[in-house]
Amino acid sequence: MKIHEYQAKRVLSEYGVTIPQGEVAVTPEEAYAAAARLGAPVVVKAQVHAGGRGKAGGVKLARTPEEAKAAAMAILGMTIKGRTVRIVLVEKAVEIAREVYIGVIFDRAKKAHTIIASAEGGIEIEELARTAPDKILKETVEPTVGLQPYQIRNIVWGMGFTAPLDRPIFAMVANLYRAFAATDASLAEINPLVITKGGEVLACDGKFNFDDNGMFRQKKIAEFRDPGEEDPAEREAVDKKLNFIKLDGNIGCMVNGAGLAMATMDMIKHFGAEPANFLDIGGGAKAQQVKDALSIILREPKVKAIFINIFGGIVRCDLVAEGIIAAKKDLGFDRPVVIRLIGTNDAIARKMLNEEGFPTYDNMPEAARKAVEMTAGV
Ligand code: GDP
Ligand code: MN
Repeated sequence: MKIHEYQAKRVLSEYGVTIPQGEVAVTPEEAYAAAARLGAPVVVKAQVHAGGRGKAGGVKLARTPEEAKAAAMAILGMTIKGRTVRIVLVEKAVEIAREVYIGVIFDRAKKAHTIIASAEGGIEIEELARTAPDKILKETVEPTVGLQPYQIRNIVWGMGFTAPLDRPIFAMVANLYRAFAATDASLAEINPLVITKGGEVLACDGKFNFDDNGMFRQKKIAEFRDPGEEDPAEREAVDKKLNFIKLDGNIGCMVNGAGLAMATMDMIKHFGAEPANFLDIGGGAKAQQVKDALSIILREPKVKAIFINIFGGIVRCDLVAEGIIAAKKDLGFDRPVVIRLIGTNDAIARKMLNEEGFPTYDNMPEAARKAVEMTAGV
C-alpha cells in the first residue's frame, strides 16, 4: 500500500523526523488561506501516488498567498503519471543549502533491511543507481538486531557530514529506521533531506510503501488508504478477494493457484508474448469467482486475448466452465479466449464449453502457444 507525501510526513514526524510546517488543500481558496496562515513564501505540491512530481510541474514555489492560489489552480486537476491531482500540500518554503537522500528498503534477496543513502539528494535514486552507483552508500541491517550506531555513523560520515550537522543527521537516520520498522513498511524514503541555509535539517519529501499483509495490525496506517489513487481493476480485485496484479503485456491470464499462475506467465514469455496480469482465482474457486475474475480482465482494453489455465485439484473444472459460460452470457467476450482445463471433472467441463462454441485444450504449452498466436500482429 502507498500513501501520500503529507501522510508520510505525519508518520515520519511521529517518529521524530523534523518536517516543514504545512497544510493540505483541495481548492485554490484553501491553498490561499493556508499560505496566509503559514506565511509566504510557500511551496505548493501535488499529492499523488507517483514520484517525479517536481519534473512534471507538480511542485511550485509561491511568494505570496495569491501566487499559492494560482499554483494550486494549475496543479489541481493536473495529470501526473496517469493520476489526477485532487489534493495539494502547501508548505512553508525553505532555503536549501544542501540536499541528500536517505531511505530504507526491505531487501528480500538479503532477507534484511537495507539503509540506502547518498550525498546527492533530490534526484531519483533509480537514476543515481544507473549514472553514479559509486555515490550510493548501503548498510545491511539484521532486522532482529536492529540498526546499530556504528552503521549510522558509516552513513553520516560517508555522506561527508561533520560537526555540528552530524548529530541531527544521525538522529534523522535513526528515526527514519524506527518509523520504517514500526509500521511494517517495505520502503521509507526521504528525498530530499534538506539542510537549510539556517542549519536546520528537514525532510522536504517523504515516501512510504507498506506490506499489505501487515495492515491488519497497522490500523492507523491502513486508514491512510486512498482508493481514489488505486487502479480500478486492482481495487475491484481486492474487494472480490482475488489475487490480481496488473502487468504490461496483452494476454489476460486467469489461473488457479499461485504456482500455476507463475508457470503460466513464464510460458507466455517463453512463446514470445507478455502477460497482462497475474491472477490467481484461488484453490476452491466456484463459478462466481470465475465470472468476477473474467470481468476484471475484460475491463482492460490492452488485453488482446484471454488465457484460462485451470488445474482441477480441489477446483472442479465443471464449475469453472459454468463461470466462463455465465461470463459469456452476461459480459460477452469481445476478444479471443483460449481455455486449457485438466483434472477433476474436466471431461464434463470440456463438453459444456465445446457446446458453447469454445475450443478447449488439455496440453498447457499447446494452449499457451495458441494464446500467443492470437495476439500476434494486433
Ligand atoms: P518529487 O519530484 O516528487 O520527488 O518532489 P519533491 O518533494 O522531492 O520536490 C522536488 C524538488 O523541489 C526538491 O528536490 C527540492 O529541490 C524542491 N523543493 C521542495 N520543497 C522546497 C522548498 O521548500 N524550498 C525550495 N527552495 N525548494 C523546494
Ligand atoms: Mn522527492
